[in-house]
Amino acid sequence: MVFLPPFRAELACFSYNYIAAEDARLDRRMNKKSATPEVENASTVKPSRASVGRLSLYLRRLEMLHREGINKVSSRLLGEALGVTDAQVRKDLAYLGNLGHPGIGYAAPELIAAIRRILGIDRDWPTVLVGVGNLARALLRYQGFIERGFRFVALFDADPAKIGQTIEGLTVHALEAMPTVLATTKAELGVLTVPSQAAQSVAEALVAAGIRGVLNFTPQVLRLPADISVVSVDLTVQLEQLAFLVQLGGEEPSR
Ligand code: ATP
Repeated sequence: MVFLPPFRAELACFSYNYIAAEDARLDRRMNKKSATPEVENASTVKPSRASVGRLSLYLRRLEMLHREGINKVSSRLLGEALGVTDAQVRKDLAYLGNLGHPGIGYAAPELIAAIRRILGIDRDWPTVLVGVGNLARALLRYQGFIERGFRFVALFDADPAKIGQTIEGLTVHALEAMPTVLATTKAELGVLTVPSQAAQSVAEALVAAGIRGVLNFTPQVLRLPADISVVSVDLTVQLEQLAFLVQLGGEEPSR
């Protein structure tokens, strides 16, 4: 039995910690033309993966400030909360266009809308999950996904005992039903919570059925076509990194 605390904003932090090969691949795809952001050219240059991770964190912070009634924010205020320099904040936000007002800062609602747009979360993302074990059950109960537009629409499993069951309001389908179910639900994202030895074949089945992005919770490095996006979350790796940092006793590891 795996015990997991309720998933909260920490999930977003995993975007900083990813499998290097996948990251390099994504960065190459995102920045085909230029590796260095040109602020003047904000509408055409895509943010780096690290900037995308920070944009998610700025968004959470901005939404919190907005809820507290703060409508104007400075890059310093945003940076201080996240341990980022104000110059870095301005550089990241420059990808969104000229949203800053000199001497005033940024209008929170405008910035929130722009970040949601660039991250692609100003829309609904129907999502399927394969492998309805303990980890999957914890994820399915997490309300934060739906708040962000990630709506689970179908579940799949290979275990005949689970097929046909209803879990968190969703029916568990057999893998063979994947093409039909994906065609009906129009899901574009797939969450993989199968044992690692099944990960590659299940990911290929998801892609063949029309999935365009895979959130991989297994330690398996997936080999998928270049136009398929993969983000990996290996909770054990995260814990190992944490143990290492604690062992350093607060010292910054060399970069
Ligand atoms: P449980 O004890 O409920 O099976 P678990 O978390 O211990 O939970 P795991 O062995 O991690 O289970 O497997 C996660 C889920 O993936 C299980 O529901 C299992 O039936 C399913 N699964 C295993 N192999 C495949 C596969 N090839 N395709 C789809 N689902 C699979």
